[in-house]
Amino acid sequence: MKVNQVELVISAVKPEQYPSEGFPEFALAGRSNVGKSSFINKMINRKSMARTSSKPGKTQTLNFYKIEESIYFVDVPGYGYAKVSKTEREAWGKMIEKYFTTREGLLAVLLIVDLRHPPTADDVMMYDFLKHYDLPCIVIATKADKIPRGKWDKHKKVVKETLNLDARDEVVVFSSETGLGKDHVWNILLNFSKR
Ligand code: GDP
Repeated sequence: MKVNQVELVISAVKPEQYPSEGFPEFALAGRSNVGKSSFINKMINRKSMARTSSKPGKTQTLNFYKIEESIYFVDVPGYGYAKVSKTEREAWGKMIEKYFTTREGLLAVLLIVDLRHPPTADDVMMYDFLKHYDLPCIVIATKADKIPRGKWDKHKKVVKETLNLDARDEVVVFSSETGLGKDHVWNILLNFSKR
């Protein structure tokens, strides 16, 4: 998809604020600093629309990006940042649980992981959580440009095995630096939207 039009519609803290057009929606989850903002920006052809490395401690919001008046990307606050207090972590958990379990129109969650390393315990927990609620997941293994092409398959296999990936889910090797995987991800998303 060639993206021209993108608008940050709302940074929501509660369900009453979620947009109501009923467009197909995709959520983006990943641990802090994994490259989630860079992924979003690459997908929507923007340099810095999604804040890169947004610091924890700020109000945790779900950011709804409307794309081409037809679909939503929902940027979920990053997880796994050590310095977050227990209270903040619990508030985060409640917010995303509510969103993931009640949002009609949410077609799939894109889970961003780092291709260079095995998924962390937090990544595994997030994946298990999505599967517990039967949410389709597309795993984006990003930063592929940081390792030699010859190692991609081996690392992809480690990602699959560590997450104990469901046969219906897919891992896409990605790079926000080079755009590798971008067209493939858009195809997957458009197919979901047509179902
Ligand atoms: P976020 O906290 O998950 O939103 O992570 P960011 O998108 O801010 O990325 C964290 C750091 O990784 C930044 O310095 C990015 O420039 C870098 N980064 C993200 N994606 C890639 C990628 O695909 N390739 C390379 N080489 N660097 C990346």
